[in-house]
Amino acid sequence: MQRKLWSEIASDDWNDWSWQLSNRIDCLSELKKVMFLSEQQEYSLKKVTATFQMGVTPYYFSLIDFEKIDQDPIFLQAIPSEKELDDWEKGCWDPLNEEMDSPAPGLIHRYPDRVLMVVTNRCATYCRHCNRKRNWQRAEYSMKRSEIDQIISYISRHPELREVILSGGDPFLVSLETLDYILWSIRKIEHIGVIRLGSRIPVTLPQRVTDDLLEVLGKHGPIWVNTHFNHPKEITPEAASACEKLVKTGIPINNQTVLLKNVNDDYRTMLNLNHKLLKIRVRPYYLFQSDPIKGTEHFRTKVAKGVEIIERLQGHTSGLAVPRFAIDAPGGGGKVPILPNYCLSWSPDRWTLRNYKNNIYQYYDPK
Ligand SMILES: *Cc1c(COP(=O)(O)O)cnc(C)c1O
Ligand code: SF4
Repeated sequence: MQRKLWSEIASDDWNDWSWQLSNRIDCLSELKKVMFLSEQQEYSLKKVTATFQMGVTPYYFSLIDFEKIDQDPIFLQAIPSEKELDDWEKGCWDPLNEEMDSPAPGLIHRYPDRVLMVVTNRCATYCRHCNRKRNWQRAEYSMKRSEIDQIISYISRHPELREVILSGGDPFLVSLETLDYILWSIRKIEHIGVIRLGSRIPVTLPQRVTDDLLEVLGKHGPIWVNTHFNHPKEITPEAASACEKLVKTGIPINNQTVLLKNVNDDYRTMLNLNHKLLKIRVRPYYLFQSDPIKGTEHFRTKVAKGVEIIERLQGHTSGLAVPRFAIDAPGGGGKVPILPNYCLSWSPDRWTLRNYKNNIYQYYDPK
């Protein structure tokens, strides 16, 4: 791994998640210490960071290839760009209308049997393409006991719920005491079967997967983790080790990739990513069309791109390596799966199907 810039830092510090977190590159003067910025760049980034804060762990930053910085997938995801203020009139703060489906502060209840809790707005690295950029306007916070208790009371009163998703921000960055309290409170509710945590820690701060975190998670299972790898470069020995520890604690890991222009919008990158994920026992779950969020227009690809990628994976490689492509419908419609068209026509008793090689088949329904 490249960590020339931090060569004087002892390995113990480098591998310590709190060192990583407190040494985040979180302002332009810190950024100038680790890379060259022209006066013009500094001027425009000052405006960008006044609207959208920055924060990158030294670990994640060290994955950047400075030879090809303009095309580097880590650089594009983590370092602010003047493009964030271009097309300012495009996109919204909350295109998914999450605030509308919120019966209590920090709770989103959109689907019949599961709810999502935004337990903090803190992340190890602030992804430039984040779809909750609106939450960055507030200083870093974690949910207070009273807010947690209010949500727990809502969930207890809704027996149709069977799953609670902890999201954010990053739920692995709330204090262990708070995380333990949240998980324990949810576990007491009989109708909740599964707790899911959405976290980018395995990608941007894998050092956070410590024994004491695993102990808390291990106590309150079944827990599932959904993480967010976007590029094969992110699958480092550190990331692999974090995933292995989670899996060994009995936590299955699924991955949600966001389709991002110039980062991962070609099928070879996606094939490579998904194969590498399976090797570290992470299942590709969703491939998301990037949402029209303010400040992220430059990342958006055409919907057809995602369909093309899925078409080039489906059947050509293991089904385990094919995620579901989805668009989160504007206005709070929820996730809509988009598939290449494999069913050419159907009548009451006959289906005309196409396979991945474009061969046509007739299939008869039972009478
Ligand atoms: C994505 C999402 C979920 C989970 O959806 P799955 O299809 O089960 O992964 C739940 N609630 C909200 C508000 C979401 O955005
Ligand atoms: S880790 Fe997730 S919530 Fe945090 S900035 Fe990245 S995309 Fe947004």
